[in-house]
Amino acid sequence: MKINKNFDNLVPNYLFAEIAKRVNDYQAANPEKDVIRLGIGDVTLPLAPVVVEAMKKGADDLAAKETFKGYPDYEGYAFVREAISDYYRSFGVEIAADEILISDGAKSDCGNIGDIFDKDNVVLVTDPVYPVYVDSNIMAGRKIIYADSNKDNHFNAMPDDSVHADIIYLCSPNNPTGAAYTAEQLKVWIDYANRNDAIILYDCAYEAFITEDLPRSIYAVEGARSCAIEFCSLSKTAGFTGTRCGYTVIPKELERDGHNLYKTWYRRQATKFNGVSWPVQCAAAAVFSEEGQKQIKVNLEYYKENARTIASALDELGIYYTGGKNSPYIWLECPNGMKSWDFFDLLLNEANVVGTPGAGFGKNGEGFFRLTSFGDKEKTKEAVERLKKLLSSSK
Ligand code: PLP
Repeated sequence: MKINKNFDNLVPNYLFAEIAKRVNDYQAANPEKDVIRLGIGDVTLPLAPVVVEAMKKGADDLAAKETFKGYPDYEGYAFVREAISDYYRSFGVEIAADEILISDGAKSDCGNIGDIFDKDNVVLVTDPVYPVYVDSNIMAGRKIIYADSNKDNHFNAMPDDSVHADIIYLCSPNNPTGAAYTAEQLKVWIDYANRNDAIILYDCAYEAFITEDLPRSIYAVEGARSCAIEFCSLSKTAGFTGTRCGYTVIPKELERDGHNLYKTWYRRQATKFNGVSWPVQCAAAAVFSEEGQKQIKVNLEYYKENARTIASALDELGIYYTGGKNSPYIWLECPNGMKSWDFFDLLLNEANVVGTPGAGFGKNGEGFFRLTSFGDKEKTKEAVERLKKLLSSSK
């Protein structure tokens, strides 16, 4: 037998293991120090009460013969898809319920969507990048090209007409940079994709953090229905990182190479995926109820306030950053031209604050650093005070 040798081409990802090692070593040598973690990409607040109620009710249904549920529909229950369709309508985007497919999260869908595309497609990702887009395509043996996100374009990479791509991953608001595309910028990508017969794979896992007048869906921009597939998730929107639920949108008319992409993805899912559990789909529908929307906003507001706390400190210090306004991530330039890992060590040793070195997300991440707003409010304030003290004394 032969193994898939493409796995040999994966670059080992030591980022989070290396962070954990350095923090553990520091804490072991300095047990009295209170280390604050602003590197976490996971949510920390509990599910909304109405969501928990719906999940419990769903579990009770499974306990009685009359209400028991077996395998769900591959694309998810209609009432959940209808709730999501109404949610899109609430911000002015028309997506039919039968263009939505429920899944166990955006990571699986972003990683698995490649199954429907040939190996001989050129994949374009923006750099810095959420590693799933890169690694899943390396596993499939596809060629990957990079579009630079950097200070010159405020970390919103734009297409280069002299370069051809077939599959384009865009993430907005972005992980790790927090930068978000305007409608005008997305229109440029959409026109590029339509001209190149390409498909945009649009990850908007952080759309619920958008506060400014920016598109929350690529379908808010004209031309997207003929070139885009959209992935979204309840992970950050509603604290579902452990509960697991997301959704993918494929316009019914979207075709490439003589094939309908909704039908092809449906066939893929029907073959390899058996759906999301009844209690979780009940919980997901509750997120989109009127009460659910009110309750999840409380947690979102908590994280957004943390983001504002960090961003306003950077404003005070005169440090360049992206994100923070429409994203839980704040992506800052390391002071005095420091490299990402040197700044990591400085911050850990001198301020006892942990973040994520930007260099771990691609070549354009060198010299940058990611802080997140998913931590405790008081600890975030304390971390910011330490950061201010450290950086105003090092100026
Ligand atoms: N997409 C992006 C850009 C992310 O940052 C994450 C999680 O960190 C995901 C997708 C994963 O989402 P899910 O928890 O729904 O798998």
